[in-house]
Amino acid sequence: MIRWGLIGASTIAHEWVIGAIRASGGEIVSVMSTNVERGAKYAADHGIPHSVNTLDALLNGQPIDAVYISTTNELHKDQVLASAKAGKHILCEKPLATSLADAKVMVDACKAANVVFATNHHLRNAATHTAMRDAVAAGKIGKPLAAKVFHAVYLPPHLQGWRLDRPDAGGGVILDITVHDTDTLRYVLNDDPVEAIASTQQSGLAKAGLADAVMGVIRFKSGLIAMFHDGFTTKYSETGFEVHGTEGSLVGRNVMSQRPVGVVNLRNADGETELKLDHRNLYETGIAKFHSAIAGDGKPAASGEDGLWSLAAGLAVAKAAETGTAQPIDPGL
Ligand code: NDP
Repeated sequence: MIRWGLIGASTIAHEWVIGAIRASGGEIVSVMSTNVERGAKYAADHGIPHSVNTLDALLNGQPIDAVYISTTNELHKDQVLASAKAGKHILCEKPLATSLADAKVMVDACKAANVVFATNHHLRNAATHTAMRDAVAAGKIGKPLAAKVFHAVYLPPHLQGWRLDRPDAGGGVILDITVHDTDTLRYVLNDDPVEAIASTQQSGLAKAGLADAVMGVIRFKSGLIAMFHDGFTTKYSETGFEVHGTEGSLVGRNVMSQRPVGVVNLRNADGETELKLDHRNLYETGIAKFHSAIAGDGKPAASGEDGLWSLAAGLAVAKAAETGTAQPIDPGL
């Protein structure tokens, strides 16, 4: 039984992660919120026995083995460093930090403290992406040449807060969505990105100079090129993920989702076949792997290094859009 402390009385914990921890046999001991009333209400609403208002009270006053960090992004670094110092295993939300230097310090600190450090890139846990990864690895499409990611959505009104007006918190579409795309591309292709070009849009939904949509191209080590469209502004578009190879294509529809949904078709000289998928809750799959990693059995679905890669790619995309030039992607590992 892993005993958890939640750092952040967040929407994502409420909507997905609290349920996933409990479904995977974990116990949630306490939640930390900076606001006394909100924290107490959050704990009561979710059947969490304790709420505390400082990191120290959570890390040193409660019997916990692991923490889930889902505060705004500028807070992740100090919370990870303190948790590692207290010997807690850490599941941290993406983006790990707002700078690569901070994320590196976090990865190094967790290594030195010998705690499991995972990034909550849930899309790796989708049956759709795993089926595409397996098909690519089995050579079903020959040599992968190109990929397309369609991940433009409409940011739901209840999330239209810091993502739209706080650059200091890592707001904007790139650190929110593009980091998921780049992680999913790395996972499906078993390849690493090397360079990005991109163009952003400010349609008025996001303020303070933040982008609410972005399109771009990422080049991978193998030579594959991947195009992506991420947005907060498209109410009626469908998500998708495609990989095109010398001998076939994989076409995923409705696959860039938090829910266990979507279909994947394999197209090749034999025609079109729908891949068989065993859909399961993505967050539960991730938490189960994290629990196993703590027990010394395997690795988390996405490690701290994976989070470093996705952040490096996201920051390169942002800089490419800002400068109008191609930017190298280098996590410094
Ligand atoms: P929220 O805005 O819901 O929560 C972030 C912080 O805002 C909380 O820690 C809380 O502070 C404060 N807060 C929450 N509700 C209120 C309120 N009503 N009034 C004032 N303050 C409030 O963030 P999200 O859950 O959307 O995102 C949190 C993190 O999770 C981010 O890093 C994000 O990128 C990531 N994320 C990941 C997803 C995934 O699928 N992997 C999906 C969505 C988000 P306090 O704790 O002090 O109370």
